[in-house]
Amino acid sequence: MLTWTDNIKALQDMLGNARRALVVSHMNPDGDAVGASMAWWSYLRSACPSMEVRVAFPNKFPEFLGWIEGAEQAIAYTDKKEATLEYLKDCDLVFCLDFNDLSRLDTLGEALSAHSVPRVLIDHHLQPAKEFDLVFSDVSMSSTAELVYRIVLALDGKPLLSKGAAEALYVGLITDTGSFSFGVKTPETFRIAADLMELGVDKDEVASKVYDSYSEKRMRLLGYCLHSKMRVFPKQKAAYISLSREELDKFCFQPGDTEGFVNFPLSIKKVALSALLTESQDKTHIRVSLRSKGKTISVNELARKYFNGGGHFNASGGKYFDSLKNCEAYFENILKTDF
Ligand code: 5GP
Ligand code: MN
Repeated sequence: MLTWTDNIKALQDMLGNARRALVVSHMNPDGDAVGASMAWWSYLRSACPSMEVRVAFPNKFPEFLGWIEGAEQAIAYTDKKEATLEYLKDCDLVFCLDFNDLSRLDTLGEALSAHSVPRVLIDHHLQPAKEFDLVFSDVSMSSTAELVYRIVLALDGKPLLSKGAAEALYVGLITDTGSFSFGVKTPETFRIAADLMELGVDKDEVASKVYDSYSEKRMRLLGYCLHSKMRVFPKQKAAYISLSREELDKFCFQPGDTEGFVNFPLSIKKVALSALLTESQDKTHIRVSLRSKGKTISVNELARKYFNGGGHFNASGGKYFDSLKNCEAYFENILKTDF
């Protein structure tokens, strides 16, 4: 069993020998995926100047994260398959951030599986897969951003991070914890937030860039969901919202527009489990997002058992390969039998 110190030493050796690296994160990248990846990219560029580093996401990240330092240089694999594969050919290292299984990368994961480049996992999800060569996996971390901060600190003894990288990490921290209202498991998370402020983060400005960036259409889609689409099951203390492609199209859906919607039903006092079911663009499947509050319902278990997915105790996701109607019936049946 490798200790934290062994892992840091192994990482130092890997960084010393690598000439070209790729940083990847999960499909439909969220604030932690983009924040942690861009901060790690920024750190590697300054700490290992002779190493070439790029970041690739399986698909585009939402617009509200576009201001993060370096994000405009990140590759969306769906747009640049050939160039990414060409770059990957000569890579000596792949950093896998904020996911625990290559299947979370969609076709980018298949491309990585076809290469024998050493993979370093930096993540905070439960039950990581065995396909990584060096593993930093800690479920007590609020976010991958927090883990990246701790790794940077351990590598150098001080946080060698630019203001832009500190902002990126702060985005990961706030988006994965509902601005410190859940998922903070140790006081150290707050100390790290304080350190990030000392590195120049203006927390009000970052929060405003992240949260006050709705388009009018997105705001109206949220209103529609809460008014007309949220179904509440008081006996099961559950609620769900389902959205078809036609409904999403009506509100000119953009990637990231439904980010956070699944949390809203949990604001109802008697709701402890919430789901958002969205029909995929090609209508081949339904994306399922699950959230719970409190310490009794593991949506990680629920996602694994019923939706071929996973995640955290209180936040998880998965897929359902059938129509939206059938997914609704399937979910309602789970509520009846399991709750
Ligand atoms: P979201 O609902 O925001 O898409 O995802 C919530 C959490 O569940 C995230 O931490 C994410 O990594 C995880 N998650 C979402 N979808 C999947 C999935 O299909 N498989 C697995 N293993 N985890 C998922
Ligand atoms: Mn995360």
